[in-house]
Amino acid sequence: MGTGSSPCASCKLLRRRCAKDCIFAPYFPPDDPHKFAIVHKVFGASNVSKMLQELPIQQRADAVSSLVYEANARVRDPVYGCVGAISFLQNQVSQLQMQLAVAQAEILCIQMQQEPVPSLPTTLMESEDKSPFSTSNSNSINNNFNNNLQQYLSFASSSSSIMQDPVKRESLWT
Ligand SMILES: [Zn+2]
Repeated sequence: MGTGSSPCASCKLLRRRCAKDCIFAPYFPPDDPHKFAIVHKVFGASNVSKMLQELPIQQRADAVSSLVYEANARVRDPVYGCVGAISFLQNQVSQLQMQLAVAQAEILCIQMQQEPVPSLPTTLMESEDKSPFSTSNSNSINNNFNNNLQQYLSFASSSSSIMQDPVKRESLWT
C-alpha cells in the first residue's frame, strides 16, 4: 500500500502488506477477489504459496487457473470435485461411441442388403435383420458410475475390433 498501488486480492483478503515480490500478485489481481477467496478456502493460502514457489515462473499462471478450476469444482461437488466432471464426460464419450458403433453397424447392414457380396449365400442375408448391437447396454453404463472407465475401455476395444475387422464380423453370423 505504501507505494500507492492497491494490494493484490490475496494480500487484501489476508490483511497483509503486498510486497513488491508478492508471489500472488501477478495471478490474483485486486479486481477479482473471488478467484483468490475460493482457492484460499479449498487449498489454503500457504499451500497455494508453496505450490507456486515450487514451480518455474512460466508455469505458475497455468497452475493458478488449474487450482481455481479445481477449487470451484470442489465447492460445487464436495465429493467428486473435478473427477465428477471427468466421469460425466467419459460417460458421454462411451455412450456416443456406442451410438456410433450401432449406427456404423446399421450402415453396414444396409450396404450389405443393397449390394450382396456374390460369394456369400443368400440365406445369410435373411439372418441379418437383427442387429448384434443392443442399446439396452447404455443404461447400465450410465448407472455404473464406478466401472465407467473399465466399461469404456472394454467397449472401445470390443467395438473397434468388430468395426475394424469386417471378415471377423461376417464370420459371427455364419
Ligand atoms: Zn500480494
